Amino acid sequence: MTVPTHHPGDTLLIDYAGGALDEAVSLAVATHLALCPCCRLNVAEMEAVGGALLEEIEPEAVDPASLEAVLARLDEHPPLPRAAAPVRPPKPIPVPLIPEPLRRYVGDDLSRLPWTRLMRGMDCCDIPLSGPPGGRSKARLMRLGPGVGPPHHTHRGVELTLVLDGGFTDDLGQFGRGDLSVADGSIRHRPVADEEGCLCLAVTDGLLRFTGALGLILNPFVKF
Ligand SMILES: [Zn+2]
Repeated sequence: MTVPTHHPGDTLLIDYAGGALDEAVSLAVATHLALCPCCRLNVAEMEAVGGALLEEIEPEAVDPASLEAVLARLDEHPPLPRAAAPVRPPKPIPVPLIPEPLRRYVGDDLSRLPWTRLMRGMDCCDIPLSGPPGGRSKARLMRLGPGVGPPHHTHRGVELTLVLDGGFTDDLGQFGRGDLSVADGSIRHRPVADEEGCLCLAVTDGLLRFTGALGLILNPFVKF
């Protein structure tokens, strides 16, 4: 199994760990995680730090009498330095062509999906999301034949493209299975499918929330 070389980046992973992403973007990140042991490890560490922080602030929520009792016990026994729980990378296991959680949305038989032809060699299929209708985020599967790609373009929002099979190359590099491309308005590119074609999950979003509450708390504590 090849390991992805293009990752979501710390900001997206922190917001994912803090539950601050909407459904479509979260689906793209979660599907990347299914294919990327490196980012899974990063998210596990972020969640461990987040959990430790929540434990730290928990006494504020208890009633004063209990808090007093806890503080009295802390006086008796000075706290040991908190050691971060070691997180082991999971063993590599074969991942199906359509990994969870994407499989929950589209199943594993792509030939049964209602594909729409956009142009010669380029088909797409919208993925129905369970969130409220009218959201600006869209998720769709894209299938490109060898050497096929849209013209140069930029983006009004953010476009995430996760390669599921085959690959594509654009001005930013080559993307293979598991690689996630994050393109915003500052990026003008022309992705072209490699010679084996390309199957990818494409998410467009104008409402990315890069500053989730837990993300803000975690930011100073997470260093890579
Ligand atoms: Zn990754």
